[in-house]
Amino acid sequence: MAKRAFISVGHGGDDPGAVANGFKEKDINLVIALSCRDELVRHGVEVLMSRETDVRVLDAVKRCNAFKPDRAIDIHINAGGGDGVEIFYHYLGGASKTLAQLVIDSIVKETGQNSRGVKAKRNSQGKDYYAFIRETAAPAIIVECAFIDNKKDIAIVDTAAEQKLMGVAIAKGVLKDLGIPYKAPVKVEQAPTAKPEVKEEPKTEAPAKKPTPAPAPAPVAPAAKPATKPAPKAGDAVKLNKGKLYTTARGSVAVTRTGTFYLYDGVAVNGRYRVTNAKNRVGKTPIVLNVSGWVKM
Ligand SMILES: [Zn+2]
Repeated sequence: MAKRAFISVGHGGDDPGAVANGFKEKDINLVIALSCRDELVRHGVEVLMSRETDVRVLDAVKRCNAFKPDRAIDIHINAGGGDGVEIFYHYLGGASKTLAQLVIDSIVKETGQNSRGVKAKRNSQGKDYYAFIRETAAPAIIVECAFIDNKKDIAIVDTAAEQKLMGVAIAKGVLKDLGIPYKAPVKVEQAPTAKPEVKEEPKTEAPAKKPTPAPAPAPVAPAAKPATKPAPKAGDAVKLNKGKLYTTARGSVAVTRTGTFYLYDGVAVNGRYRVTNAKNRVGKTPIVLNVSGWVKM
């Protein structure tokens, strides 16, 4: 018999969850959860989700218990200025704690996110603090993927590609717990984003071919490199010729792309810069489709 998993998607509808840095928790939760579902379904797991669109759901636990899943996962984004992923499990430990540990290990491995550990939280009656864990019959966990109000931490899930990777990482942990061997997807070369519509724009910037002299370059010893490059900034064009477009700031997953991309904000994370494939998206809220990926410069 096929294994079953219930995925609860935190918040939704008129309840945005945590809001910071231009993000709403409910939106990030949903992209992660849909990706987690797809990965589980690809491995033959029957999945029921609390929601698949932006709606508020009040009877998630009831529907979860009626579905009788083997495992139950509640997906959230944290707030409070911390750093890293944390996962809550049933205070009695057991299968819930095992699931929590496997999922957190997978997230750390797949996304490069740092771990705050697995934990239990009790209420004043000594039972589980969170209703999802307290009232769900199946082994249940709450995954708090990253902190929305910590700019460095939310960078791990602030693009659609990264959110999808987080979903896959959670799924891999669940699969391991269910004893289902992971199968790599057949097509890995396909880029996750649609091809950009290339429009000819009147050139307003300096021609890219002529090296621009750096403004007040720091005095450095003459190096083998031809010139000191100016610091990367938002809107800078980056030409990739079969270059690597990384899915995340820290992970090794990348697709090979040729084309012009634009630095989203000129902020380096792990030596990589976020890029968008459409110039009019530069500086816009870096959510879902605004960001194509990360390039190393
Ligand atoms: Zn939440």
